[in-house]
Order: sequence, then C-alpha cells, then structure tokens
Amino acid sequence: MADTWPREDIVAATSSAYAVLGGLAERPAILVVGSYGPLGDALPALAASRVEAIGLDLVRGDIPDDVDILTGKTVVAGVIDGRNIWRADLQEAFGVLGALGARLGDDSPVSVATSTSLMHVPHDVEREGGMYPELRTWLAFADQKVGEVLTLARGLAEGRDAIAPEIAESVAVRARRAAHPGVRAGEVPVVPDAFRSREAYADRVAAQEDLGLGALPTTTIGSFPQTGEIRRARAAHRAGTMSDADYDAAMRAEIARVVELQERLGLDVLVHGEAERNDMVQYFAENLEGFATTEHGWVQSYGSRCTRPSILWGAVRRRGPITVEWSRYAQSLTGKPMKGMLTGPVTILAWSFVRDDQPLAVSADQVALALREEVADLERAGIRVVQVDEPALRELLPLRAEDQPAYISWSVRAFRLATSGVRPSTQIHTHLCYSEFNEIIDAIDGLDADVTSIEAARSRMEVLEPVEDHGFARGIGPGVYDIHSPRVPSVEEMEAQLRLAVGVIADRRLWVNPDCGLKTRGYAEVEPALANMVEAARRVRQNP
Ligand code: GLN
Ligand code: ZN
Repeated sequence: MADTWPREDIVAATSSAYAVLGGLAERPAILVVGSYGPLGDALPALAASRVEAIGLDLVRGDIPDDVDILTGKTVVAGVIDGRNIWRADLQEAFGVLGALGARLGDDSPVSVATSTSLMHVPHDVEREGGMYPELRTWLAFADQKVGEVLTLARGLAEGRDAIAPEIAESVAVRARRAAHPGVRAGEVPVVPDAFRSREAYADRVAAQEDLGLGALPTTTIGSFPQTGEIRRARAAHRAGTMSDADYDAAMRAEIARVVELQERLGLDVLVHGEAERNDMVQYFAENLEGFATTEHGWVQSYGSRCTRPSILWGAVRRRGPITVEWSRYAQSLTGKPMKGMLTGPVTILAWSFVRDDQPLAVSADQVALALREEVADLERAGIRVVQVDEPALRELLPLRAEDQPAYISWSVRAFRLATSGVRPSTQIHTHLCYSEFNEIIDAIDGLDADVTSIEAARSRMEVLEPVEDHGFARGIGPGVYDIHSPRVPSVEEMEAQLRLAVGVIADRRLWVNPDCGLKTRGYAEVEPALANMVEAARRVRQNP
C-alpha cells in the first residue's frame, strides 16, 4: 500500500527509474501518464527526466502551480473525465487547454486525452435503446468520450471557431440536465443531527435482550446459493414470459426452502436468502427514483469479473417499500428473528456511476434517507434485526491521507442516517467484506452498528487484536468459514477459529458467521459447512 511507502522514497524512485529509462541510448519516445489525481511532488522528478511527454489528470487536479517546469516536453492534458459517464462541458475543458497552453508557451505542445484509461466506463451509450431518452443525451460512455477528445483536439489544431457548434451543444446539454425537474429536486436534504444517533449501546443491549440470543449466536451474511432455477425465474420474469404472480410464488417457495433449511440446521438469526436480487446494488437502484440501469453498460470490476453499474442521475426517492414484503413473509415462517437485509448508502454509491454536479456526501445522504424509510418499514413489519451491508466502505477511502478524514466523516454520517431511526430494541447489523481494517477502524466504530460481521477466516482471526486494541466495544462476527473456497471446513477447524476469537473477544459480544454471503456457492457445500459451523458454536458454548 502506498501509505506504507514513504513519499520521499516514491519521489526518489521516480527520479532514478526515469533517469534510467530516459537515458537509454536506443528507445522509443516515452509518455508518462499520472492518472487519478495530481502528480504533486513527483512532477519535478519527471520534469527533470528526459522523457518526452507527461500526462496530467486535470479532472481530479488543477493545472499544477509549477507546470512551467514541463516546458520543452509534450503535455497530455486529461480534461475528459475517464471515470464518470457524463457528457463533458467542452467550453470548460477547452478553457483548461487554453490556460495550460498559455502557461507552457510555444515550446510545449499540448495534446488532449481522457483523465484515466477508459476501462471504468461502458462502451457505447448508443446501445442503450431502452433508456429514458432525455437521460441518454446527458451521457458519454467510452465511444462518446473519444469523440469529445477528438473534438477538443480539432479545436486545438484549428481554433475554437472550428468546434463552436460542439461546444455550444455540450453547454446546452449540461444546462438541460441541470434544469431537469428530476435533477433539481435532489437538493441538499436538511437533516437534524438527532437523525444520526441512537440510544447508548448499553441501553440497546438491554432492549434487545428479548431477542433471546444466548452466547455465540449463529447467523449468515444474507444470500443463499443462487441456483439455476432462481436465475431462470428472474430472467423469465424480466423477459415477460413469467407472470408477476408466478415469479412471486417462485421466490416465496425459495424463501420457504431457505428458512426451513436454517431451522433444520439450528441457526439463531435467520435470513430470507436474497433470491430476488440480481445484484446487491442494482436491485436497490431499480427500486429507487433517481437511478437508471443500463442494458449493455458492462465494466470490468476486478480480475475477470464484470458489473453493470447503475447510474445515479437525480433526486433519490423510494417509490414504496422495497424489501419489506419478502422479509415479512420470511419472518412469518419462523419464530426465530429474521434479519432484514439492505445495501448501505456508501456501497450503493461506490458501485454506481454517481452525479458530478453535487458532492458525494450529499448523494450519500439522499440515498440514506430513502434507506431510513425502508428500515422503519421493516421495523413496523415486525423485523427486529436489520443488516445494512457496507462492503465498499474501505474501497472508497481516498488514497491520500489528507482526504481521508472528510470521507470517513460523511460516509459514517450517511450510514447512521440510514440506520438510527429505529427503536433501541431493533438490532442493527452491518457487514464488511475484508479484514484490513487499520485505516478505517474509526469509521467502523463510528457506524455504531450493534453487530459488525467481517472477513476473518483466511487470516485466522488476526484482525481481532487491532479491533480489540482500538476499544471496539460492540458485537462482532469474525467469519469462521471462508466462502471464497468450495472446500467445506470441518467442525474442528471452525471450532479452532472460534476459540481463537473467544481468546480475544472475551465477553458476550461474539457472533458466529461465514465470511460473506453464500450466493456463489452451491447447496452441496453450504449445507454441510453451515451444519459444521453450528456444531462448532455449540461445542464452544458448551465447553468454553
Ligand atoms: N448480504 C450480501 C450477501 O450476502 C452481502 C454481500 C457482500 O458483502 N458483498 O450476498
Ligand atoms: Zn461480504
């Protein structure tokens, strides 16, 4: 991680690496591109090298004060945002190019580029035939961004007049977008501070006693295997070949099966299994005003995985309850507590394309207010435990240390806005999919969830020491079962993990659960693994 590598060392390494590369006798011309923010103190190191061209991210950074040190090199100006999907304001972008040219003088040719590679955006907006047509005119995917770059390059070569029509159109589109009622309605919500805090944790613990949970309660993270049958039903329903009533019946049958299985296995806090969700973010985006989804907008997430991020474009509002009927039905099948299951505001934003016309903190609060209504409706429907997942909390953490406190502040505030409208007797859980916590332990503590489940199996509970040292004092469920592997962990293995955990978290705060949701696994693995997990918990309870 960058923060374990002192900045001076990075700058020194930049100097020596580019001195070597630039000094090679036989080489092609070299362009060094600094995407994802300003180059800062690496800029002088690059300027001093013999590389021919430097790329600057001028979307997430202004023209550097010392940009004239690049005189003599070609400067590639990243003025078209490579990470969002909005059409650019070409007037503004062309203005930046002009200002840059003026600072550099005639010895430094300026060229135009996107601020980052285009891997973050989908291919072509023209393919989104089903999208609300007005929204489509506001968007630029990769193909359109290349067009914007070409237009600006033509303006540089031939003068502003040559691209005056394109500039005027881009300005008009942005103005139409800004004036659209669905966008304007998304003004900053004014929220009293009291909306972000709950009763003291000790009082909540007392109020939650009647959930009847003993030591080491067992639960899961939410999803159960997404079988072929479930996927087929969802696809048929979407295609219109399965009626609403048949789809509903299929999902209910699945929920009943998952509840029955959990009863049989002896889990303590049950889930409905999330069969109705294609994706934990898209599902909510489809059910909230202000979001649009795409048909073909695939982007790579990591490795060979792809996702189709939703687009947050306007005021966020719930059309009505989203998850409540599924949870109510699931709860009606069991006397045990049924967890309501929601995706948190930070994760919804992190895995969507977001608005570029208001701070992320404002968008987060707007999403949080919608979720807050959903949490309240779940509580009214008799759901006593609600989990709000924030697996992306760490992913959005800014790379630069100086930007981190502000992020932690708004992300925590949004989560609390979503979750603190409930009675003390309602237990709020959250789930985070990783165990590298040191940088965000304050944030996790700040969420003030009653129970936090985290990934811990692969690191053999190593994460617990720092959590305990930090003084984290609420419920914690370190995963004892690595769901990323098809292997079924034995009772002994999970018992050993649990005993390690009990050694660190000594009191009644410990929960027993897998590392993450089970949607990518099959029942052949999940059934025996959960049976073993429940048995491991029983052994540790019986013989602590
Ligand atoms: N509740 C979600 C699930 O179980 C959480 C998934 C996640 O953390 N990525 O699938
Ligand atoms: Zn997870």
